[in-house]
Amino acid sequence: MGSTADKLVFSFDEGGRDMADLLGGKGAGVAEMTRIGLPVPPGFTITTEACRRFLASGGRVPTGLWDQVEAALLKLERATGKRFGDPANPLLVSVRSGARFSMPGMMDTLLNLGINDEVAEGMARLSGSRRFALDLHRRFIQLYGKIVCGIDGDTFEAVLTAARRAAGVSHEHDLDESALAEVVESFKRIYRSATGQPLPADPRAQLRSAILAVFSSWNNDRARTYRRLERIPDHLGTACNVQMMVFGNLGEGSGTGVLFTRNPIDGSPELFGDYLAGSQGEDVVAGSRATLPLSALRAEAPALYEQLAASARLLERHYADLQDIEFTVERGSLYILQTRSAKRTGEAAVRVAVDLAEEGLIARPVAVSRVEPRQIEQLIHPRVAADVDAEPIGKGVPASPGAASGQAVFDADTAESWAREGRAVILVRIETSPDDVHGMIAARGVVTATGGTASHAALVARGLGRPCIVGATELEVNLSARRLTAGGVTVEEGDEITIDGTNGAVYLGRLPTVEPVPSEHLQTLLRWADELSRLEVWANADYPRDAARARQNGARGIGLCRTEHMFMEADRLPVVRAMIMADTSEARAAELAKLLPIQRGDFAGIFEIMDGLPVVVRLIDPPLHEFLPDHDGLIEELATLRASGGDPARMAEIERVLGRLEELRESNPMLGLRGVRLSILNPEITRMQVRAIMEAACDLAGRGIDVRPKIMIPLVGDLAELRAVRAELEPVAEAVQAEKGIRVPYHFGTMIELPRAALTAGDIARAAEFFSFGTNDLTQTTFGISRDDAERHFIVQYLERGILARNPFETIDPGGVGRLMRIAVEEGRQTRPDLELGICGEHGGDPESIGFCHRLGLDYVSCSPYRVPVARLAAAQAAMGGAAGASTTR
Ligand code: PEP
Ligand code: MG
Repeated sequence: MGSTADKLVFSFDEGGRDMADLLGGKGAGVAEMTRIGLPVPPGFTITTEACRRFLASGGRVPTGLWDQVEAALLKLERATGKRFGDPANPLLVSVRSGARFSMPGMMDTLLNLGINDEVAEGMARLSGSRRFALDLHRRFIQLYGKIVCGIDGDTFEAVLTAARRAAGVSHEHDLDESALAEVVESFKRIYRSATGQPLPADPRAQLRSAILAVFSSWNNDRARTYRRLERIPDHLGTACNVQMMVFGNLGEGSGTGVLFTRNPIDGSPELFGDYLAGSQGEDVVAGSRATLPLSALRAEAPALYEQLAASARLLERHYADLQDIEFTVERGSLYILQTRSAKRTGEAAVRVAVDLAEEGLIARPVAVSRVEPRQIEQLIHPRVAADVDAEPIGKGVPASPGAASGQAVFDADTAESWAREGRAVILVRIETSPDDVHGMIAARGVVTATGGTASHAALVARGLGRPCIVGATELEVNLSARRLTAGGVTVEEGDEITIDGTNGAVYLGRLPTVEPVPSEHLQTLLRWADELSRLEVWANADYPRDAARARQNGARGIGLCRTEHMFMEADRLPVVRAMIMADTSEARAAELAKLLPIQRGDFAGIFEIMDGLPVVVRLIDPPLHEFLPDHDGLIEELATLRASGGDPARMAEIERVLGRLEELRESNPMLGLRGVRLSILNPEITRMQVRAIMEAACDLAGRGIDVRPKIMIPLVGDLAELRAVRAELEPVAEAVQAEKGIRVPYHFGTMIELPRAALTAGDIARAAEFFSFGTNDLTQTTFGISRDDAERHFIVQYLERGILARNPFETIDPGGVGRLMRIAVEEGRQTRPDLELGICGEHGGDPESIGFCHRLGLDYVSCSPYRVPVARLAAAQAAMGGAAGASTTR
């Protein structure tokens, strides 16, 4: 043998867990288990390097490979006392692929290799069962034909089906000897007619073809697709494991099973899995025969169960993680074939991580890194109960998690009025716009037929914490007929539906949902996470109930209270509209005076809940026309009234509103009279808001509550704008404190949501005590892309064609938006070293963007109250310098 670099084959007793790059995950795993003394059938691994050389050379066998395989085979024969191809004492092997990362679906496992007619006879003699030998033989031909020679698996299945039917049995397990003998002969004929050659009888020829088939499988379509999805590099190659067969189909006292060291569904610390007596290979997971739960095995075969439990404990301690183990029992002897980190639900991930840390197997930071932030999402929203057996009528894009049931309604006003009557409703639209927000607030959930994960519906629903499905193209929504059709079912307005925003499914009728309470384990994990984070997590909350949820979920402040949402509420909208329609400043002042106590009450509610924590209140942002009724609707109403000679007063009123709408009309409202510009032109609105904030703050401070208001000005692009509004508003804040005779520490700051604001942040910081990055607008204005239009028309194409790698409205675009943020952070802090920095755009709840914000040195991220737990975990992982542990993902 040449140098170590040329060592292409390792016996299991030569490897270990650190050699996964070379031996693949499976090879490193069996080597490690061999090393720690578990009963692993012996074998050897051909390295990923051999595979790489084979593929790079266009399919030439690497020099010396067959010699090394031969040597390893000899060693295996010595270790087992059996001989490859010897009918008197035959060695049979399995051949399996095994890359660095587990890639289910790359290549099936080849079993019983080494068998031929003579060897089968030998196996019959040795086992005392000819039926057993025939079963091995037919499985070999079937797998070899399919995997190595690419023969359509259905051809073999058809023969088995016919044999079962002829014998009147439901499973091949029940076929007798003569039936199996016929199956073997039919399989050989299939092989010969498909390949033009007889089945290779020479075990060494079988083995070589199988090894090369494993290498070639690295580039099959299934493997390529899987790698693309999981972002596994193409150059890694796969290893190939050759292992002595042990037989779970050797009659009484034999079987195969899968075992999880803890429950992978809820994480409870008990062995979990299935055992199937008299079976081989994939039988146990194929689901065609009833398996025995491990809990029952305990009663049936206590000694075996104890042995399994001991191996499970050993492996779990050794790997310090929940393991998924494959085992075989051959005539009462237990063999462990494979172990790997188990896939698990979010609930199990949390519980296992916390339990392992409390049992002292892993450190707390490791526990925190073991759970992916997104896994927590499954835990914080209601779900359709797991035991419900219902077929969805349609599916869409899951846009905001959680499940909800209610009566389908097709417009926002109906949603609102029905909700006021105490009915649960689901708002169904083609798409949503700001006109629908009051309906979305009233609804339990939202479905739209169009749109993607950053459409208006998705963004608003996530902010509100409403379950939402968008892009449900399978639903035919007919707004005028007020019905939807899907999956052959028609849903009229008022019919009940259930939606699950976690998986995008829409169901007919009311299905039971379960409301999760944050488990003790989750709370513990998040406490540990907080100890590791530098970045604080705040929440966006517009109402006291949101603030309460935020605080309950561990938010350390409110980073954005969008005051205009309060204007949208049904009892306020008429006053807001009257204020906008007012002809004189006295009339406007009168309406504003009505709004003042309402806003004061809202702010007081939030401040009281957030006692001791900061609350950032953003002054009015959207253009005024958004508060007025829809233009086209008014035109329609007017035409109907005119045609029917309706109420003249109402017609005059509509004309007046239309006139005002005409005045307010803009070609590009997103870039029009909104944000700070509105405050400059209509200062009386923001003066009222500041008065409401400060009156509420002073009143509560007088009652001993620790109030920390922060007044935030949106959409600033120049220092002069900020200076102008501060000059207008600061005297109001001061006046209120003087009137009330109490001082409350308050701050003025601004949003950075325009490129110019970021580029001139050094100046803007002179008049701002804090910055909050409004990355929704900053992304729109940096890309020059309107979010709603992009979602509706082209962003999906951009993503599919790879023009954009990520949706920049979900994850911060580091090269553009992120770069602007960096400039603003650096230059802002140069001007004002204690400048407080946060983010309140949608990105504040996105784990990857949270990592970016951490690296940028922000003080906090602010996100939907529901996402606070997700963000807390992401902030801790960012502080630890990376994403979740790979153990749960691969
Ligand atoms: C933003 O632009 O990121 C932001 C938080 O403001 P809004 O989404 O209300 O425009
Ligand atoms: Mg904005």
